[in-house]
Amino acid sequence: MSAYPVPDASGFIKLDAMENPFDLPAPLKAQLAQRLTDVLLNRYPVPSYRAVKEALSAKLGVPEGCPVMLGNGSDELIHLVLQACAKPGAVALAPLPGFVMYEMSARLNGVRFVGVPLAANFSLNLPAMLMAIAEHKPAVIFIAYPNNPTGNLWSDSDIEQIVRAAPGLVVIDEAYHPFAQQSWMNRLAQFDKVLVMRTLSKLGLAGIRLGYMAGSARWIEQFEKVRPPYNVNVLTEAAALFMLEHLEVLDAQAAQLRSERTRLFDALRQMKGVTPHPSAANFILTRVPDAAGWMAGLKARGILIKNVSGMHPLLSGCLRLTVGTPQENDRLIAALTELAKA
Ligand code: PMP
Repeated sequence: MSAYPVPDASGFIKLDAMENPFDLPAPLKAQLAQRLTDVLLNRYPVPSYRAVKEALSAKLGVPEGCPVMLGNGSDELIHLVLQACAKPGAVALAPLPGFVMYEMSARLNGVRFVGVPLAANFSLNLPAMLMAIAEHKPAVIFIAYPNNPTGNLWSDSDIEQIVRAAPGLVVIDEAYHPFAQQSWMNRLAQFDKVLVMRTLSKLGLAGIRLGYMAGSARWIEQFEKVRPPYNVNVLTEAAALFMLEHLEVLDAQAAQLRSERTRLFDALRQMKGVTPHPSAANFILTRVPDAAGWMAGLKARGILIKNVSGMHPLLSGCLRLTVGTPQENDRLIAALTELAKA
C-alpha cells in the first residue's frame, strides 16, 4: 500500500481536490472569528454533539427523528462503517472506478474488497452488480451518488434493485449533494439497511473536516460503538454551527459553481480531441489525447488538476478537473485550448 497522495499545491491554481474555490466574505469571517473566541479549548467536546446535529438535520434535510452520526470528514465515517462491519470473512463491495477510500479503508480493516467494473459509458453494470452481490454477500456496499471520479449520478431504479438484493448495508455517499441536488435522504424510512453519508467539505468547509451519516437508529447505535468519543473537535463544531446559520452564503457559492460547471463543460466540448463526461458534481472527468502530457502542460501553466488515467483501465486518458472560480476556469479553458491546438 502507499499513503494517500496529496501533492504540494502551493503557488498553483488548485483544481485537483474538488474543493469550493471561494473564500468566505470578510465580514462573515470576522463574525466567525468572534464566535470561535468563545469556545473553551481546555474542555473535551460533549460527545452527543446535539446542537450541531440538530442544525444539520434542520438545514440539510435529514428526516425528522432520524439519528445522525458525525465523523472527522466522511473519510472517517467510511472507516468506522468498515471497522464495525469487519468480522472475519466480511466483504465490502463498490463499483469501480470509484472513490479510493472505500477500498483503502476496507483493506486497512481486514475487510475483503470487491470492485465491480462500470459499463464503458460509466453507468452501473446492474447485472454484474447483482451477480457480485449474490456471489460475495457483502456486509456493506458503497454507492457514491454522484460518483467520484466519473461525476455521474446513477439511475435510482438501479440503486433500488441493488438495495433490494443487498444482504447487508448500503451506504449512499452523497459527498457531492450540493451540486447534484438529488438525494436518498427522503427514502431512509423506506429501506432500513440504507445509510446516507454526506460531508460539509464540498460545500466549502473542507478544512474543518465534518462528515455526517443518517440512518435508522438500529444501525447508527452500532456505529456509535466504534466512534472515538471526541472525534469532532470543538472548533469544528463551533464553526459548523456558525456556518449552518449562514448557509445561504455557501448555497449561493454552490449555485455559482453549478453554472460554472455548465460553462466549463460547454467549453471542453468545443476542444479538438477532448471529451468531457456529463457531471452532477463539482468536477468534470475529461478524456484527452495524452493525459500525462496535458497534466504536465497544465502544471507548466500554473494549474494543478488530477490525472486519474492510471486508476482504472476504464479511465485511460482521463483527467479530473475541479470547477474553480470564473477566473480560474478562464485560465483552465485558455490553457486547455492551447494544448488542444498544439
Ligand atoms: N466520498 C466521496 C465520494 C468523495 O469524493 C470524498 C472526497 N474526495 C469523500 C467522500 C471524503 O470527503 P471528506 O472526508 O472531506 O468528508
